[in-house]
Amino acid sequence: MASLTLDEIYQLAYQSLCQAGADDANASAVATTVTHAERDGSASHGLFRIPGYLKSLLSGKVNGKADPQPEQVTPAILRCHGDHGYAPLALQRSVPALAEAAKTYGIAALTLTHSHHFAALWPEVEALAEHDLMGFSCVSYKPVVAPAGGNEAIFGTNPIAFAWPRPGRSPLVYDMATAAMAQGEVQIAARDGHSVPLGTGLGPDGELTTDPQEILKGVLLPFGGHKGSAIAMMVELMAGPLVGESLSFETAERDNVDGGPPQGGQFLLAVSPQILGGENWSQQAEGLFTRLEAMEGVRLPGQRRHNLRENQGNREVNDSLLAEIRQLAPQA
Ligand code: NDP
Repeated sequence: MASLTLDEIYQLAYQSLCQAGADDANASAVATTVTHAERDGSASHGLFRIPGYLKSLLSGKVNGKADPQPEQVTPAILRCHGDHGYAPLALQRSVPALAEAAKTYGIAALTLTHSHHFAALWPEVEALAEHDLMGFSCVSYKPVVAPAGGNEAIFGTNPIAFAWPRPGRSPLVYDMATAAMAQGEVQIAARDGHSVPLGTGLGPDGELTTDPQEILKGVLLPFGGHKGSAIAMMVELMAGPLVGESLSFETAERDNVDGGPPQGGQFLLAVSPQILGGENWSQQAEGLFTRLEAMEGVRLPGQRRHNLRENQGNREVNDSLLAEIRQLAPQA
């Protein structure tokens, strides 16, 4: 493992993306997202994603000079055509307008299309919580997850993220794949030679296995059986037909399998608890959090990341990952 400062992580991401053809705005937005993931201990969405970002720029699938512009469809609905670029720049430009609309009308939605999402979802919902809004988002991927009872991939790993504002404190945030394990985590386990829990996925023979290499050749399973499967299906609909984008299996039909993210859609919802729930919203919610935190063995989701965030020191980065990035972008 190598030890890198957060600035070195940012510079490595930024320089390599620029070398592969991204302009300053796109490289800076993605490098910021990647650095924040490393800072927060979301290793599967930090530098680990850079080779995929670089491959999809080099193959021409993703537009590294995308110029996404949000438009107001109705007072409470925003739409952003991603211009075939990565999601972070489109989100950076759209989320402030989404927050303003929700603060005015109580509820607002943003749809992002023609975009490539290869990151964690918590940055966008946390950004809404910073405006004292409840945030929800989901995004589809390409088919790697079998529905409950099946052994053929049809759903993406389809994450959902939720943030609840806590004025003066870090928000409550959960952000999770609807697969039993995010694909990036399975890839890291395969790279590092670790097994994964039974129930994570099936091998190519359709049998349960703890071997991540076999699961990567087979299919992932949804978390929680038919319940997670239903939520994964909901994400397909919300990030597909609801926003005017493709379903995961449709996405796969046009993806060039270059190792980078496929084109897909994203749905974001922002709600003002102040407008819907009234003055007592925060005090009442804090009553729940206080009870939860008082229980032995219970922690609030998001707390691990927010604790790690307080340490601005170096982060450990896998040597073979650094070598792969430098092979793809030799001057970075
Ligand atoms: P995890 O299972 O690691 O964590 C899911 C959530 O549960 C987190 O909010 C986490 O908070 C919380 N949590 C974990 N353990 C506990 C606990 N003991 N008590 C309370 N809360 C807990 O995440 P996944 O592996 O499912 O997903 C990882 C990432 O992958 C997500 O950020 C997701 O957005 C991303 N992803 C992106 C995709 C894309 O296409 N762009 C596709 C699929 C996934 P905490 O962070 O504080 O630990």
